[in-house]
Amino acid sequence: MNMENKIPQATAKRLPLYYRFLNNLHHQGKLRVSSKELSEAVKVDSATIRRDFSYFGALGKKGYGYNVEYLLGFFRKTLDQDEMAKIALIGVGNLGTAFLHYNFTKNNNTKIEMAFDADPDKVGKDIGGVPVYHIQDLEERLGDTSVAILTVPQSEAQPIAERLVEAGIDGILNFTPARITVPERIRVHHIDLVVELQSLVYFLKHYPLDEME
Ligand code: ATP
Repeated sequence: MNMENKIPQATAKRLPLYYRFLNNLHHQGKLRVSSKELSEAVKVDSATIRRDFSYFGALGKKGYGYNVEYLLGFFRKTLDQDEMAKIALIGVGNLGTAFLHYNFTKNNNTKIEMAFDADPDKVGKDIGGVPVYHIQDLEERLGDTSVAILTVPQSEAQPIAERLVEAGIDGILNFTPARITVPERIRVHHIDLVVELQSLVYFLKHYPLDEME
């Protein structure tokens, strides 16, 4: 079920706030919380809290409060769903293949759903449970994918990034050495493994930790 359609945006924005506070209460072993207590803690008036919670199917009884465990379960489900971004990987070379095999879901709930490559030998394969499609089918396959991991050769990074932007992607994790140019609304995180490694070696040599004050 897609909760985004049901909960008003303003309510959804308060959700992480409620979640954090209720989690603390839960750790303290509290089973119930009143809207007044919540209101004081999260600085949202209690009428708003009652209205918000009614969207979550939580009906607090007067003088009895809300069930902490129930609310936490609800928040966990809803917040997890929010974080579930669809991810595509472009370029199934050595690095790309390693990512497809890497179990991202172990630590959180992100998952690469599809991969693209230009090499006919790779297209049509299933690597680590992820289907590899031809790069020419990119626009048609992406659907509502919001994040792309770029592991293509450097020379291909810019043209592919432009296609991704055009196709409606919001974020790019760029593993190529190329600095890509995209519109401001697109978030790009750049991870150049070679530069990171060189910089570590340089720092070890010139700024050893045991010499630092
Ligand atoms: P890596 O750089 O990940 O170690 P590699 O050295 O095996 O990989 P690269 O030449 O860097 O290979 O290419 C990475 C992958 O990108 C290859 O699988 C290649 O087929 C693919 N590729 C190259 N050009 C394109 C493109 N225009 N669109 C999609 N994939 C491409």
